[in-house]
Amino acid sequence: MTTVDTTYAGSFIGGAQHRNAGDALDVVNPADGRAFARVAAASAADVDVAVQAAAGAFDAWSELAVSKRGEILGRAAHHVEEHLDELIPLLTREQGKTLRDSKIEITKAIDTLMHYVGLSKSLRGVHTPNLDPGVEGYVLRKPLGVVGAIVPWNFPTTLLCNKLAPALVAGNTVVAKPAATTPLTTLRFAELLADGGLPPGVFNVVTGKGSVAGEALVTHPHVRKIAFTGSTPVGEQIMALAARGTKRVTLELGGSDPMIICDDADLAAAASAASMGRFYNGGQACLAIKRVYVFESVADQVIESITAKAKRLKVGRGDAEGTQMGPMHTDAQRAEVAGQVTQSVNAGGELRAGGGAPDDPDLQDGFFYMPTIVVDPPHDSPMATEEVFGPALPIWRVAGLDEAIQRANASPFGLGSSVWTKDLQSAREAANRIEAGYTWINSRTKVYDELPFGGWKSSGYGKEHGQEAFDFYTETKSVVLGGG
Ligand code: NAD
Repeated sequence: MTTVDTTYAGSFIGGAQHRNAGDALDVVNPADGRAFARVAAASAADVDVAVQAAAGAFDAWSELAVSKRGEILGRAAHHVEEHLDELIPLLTREQGKTLRDSKIEITKAIDTLMHYVGLSKSLRGVHTPNLDPGVEGYVLRKPLGVVGAIVPWNFPTTLLCNKLAPALVAGNTVVAKPAATTPLTTLRFAELLADGGLPPGVFNVVTGKGSVAGEALVTHPHVRKIAFTGSTPVGEQIMALAARGTKRVTLELGGSDPMIICDDADLAAAASAASMGRFYNGGQACLAIKRVYVFESVADQVIESITAKAKRLKVGRGDAEGTQMGPMHTDAQRAEVAGQVTQSVNAGGELRAGGGAPDDPDLQDGFFYMPTIVVDPPHDSPMATEEVFGPALPIWRVAGLDEAIQRANASPFGLGSSVWTKDLQSAREAANRIEAGYTWINSRTKVYDELPFGGWKSSGYGKEHGQEAFDFYTETKSVVLGGG
């Protein structure tokens, strides 16, 4: 019998654990379907306590020199890093991903904190010396106040730190809400940042459901901005709720990233990228490769190669030796992907691999789904038109680059994309014409802290990463000096 852990009973507010008033939420291990921890959900009143704590900490935090904020955050981030060995298995247990992927994720989250710590030493502003004779202008940049950060379950720590790092360095204070199913790593992360010297109230975490704690955060009158990562329907709902009070929003939403493989590409490298890019994190990544368009002349070879790789992937518990792909995060997520695959195959797609749960009796209680390849499903089937948030890849044969780009752009999403070719002209054409916030040429899915990241169309609004992220956590004011 599994004992239920209640170490983290609720939220983390003002530098300490806070007991929530809401219903108890079970935290389930996706590898065996069993609840192993329980956290009380935050009510609207709990969210209010967190927002008040963040508002109370704002003046002192925002008045520190920016480099001092960076210094404090840097020390706190190092303290988190010293506890990697504890955080990695915790993330695997609540999220399902492999221990290797948990290590990559948390290391990247800390790197992002450190990236903005670095930027805190080099931020400079705008000064215009001669607007009129004897008149000069400069631009002040002020933090917004309390920022609400709402995060999904697929990368609980990196998606948190993409928001936390620029928000804190810019002088804001933060209340974060992790997904209801992945509260634990975020709570421990917050505790470690506080132990590492982040002042009480600067970073708070409320746990609970989106419909209660999430909405309470979005609608709280003292929250000036919501930084949201999650699905497009919820993002649209948040944008509508944030309209009252003209709150700032950044929305990092769903994606259906196309990959175009030209006939002159390094086909072996492209096939490996398709497999890694689709099946990483059980296919549950916003930037996963979700549609492949391959030139007809090389299609058979590429399809065979990707299919062989999908069949070879070792599926198992995230904490088991040698596992390459863990379970899906919830049974509901698995059912959704299974439905999209079944409908697309019934409509005429050819199932080449997977298409169901594994036979292994040891995996029957977990939310496993085998790496799946479907060739040429109709262009109006769910695998073409919807986001497939799991390990199932559709591949289409196309006549050439023009058709591939048109198909790529036919999706309502516009997050990432990639093109595989040795021809510079084709690469430039694809980069110019694909409607997406990122295009990788002969590479895949790696997001750099140095470059702005954010979706076009239904994939969102605003940018994370890069110096650009500061624009979404500050207001500017133009100041004119002199002139009579
Ligand atoms: P989701 O939209 O269901 O939930 C995301 C977060 O929003 C959770 O914390 C949830 O509790 C909260 N929430 C739900 N309803 C809410 C409401 N009414 N008000 C306030 N908060 C609410 O998304 P999910 O299923 O957890 O995550 C998967 C989705 O996230 C996919 O669509 C994926 O593509 C997207 N995603 C996007 C990016 C990106 O950077 N663009 C990155 C990762 C994931």
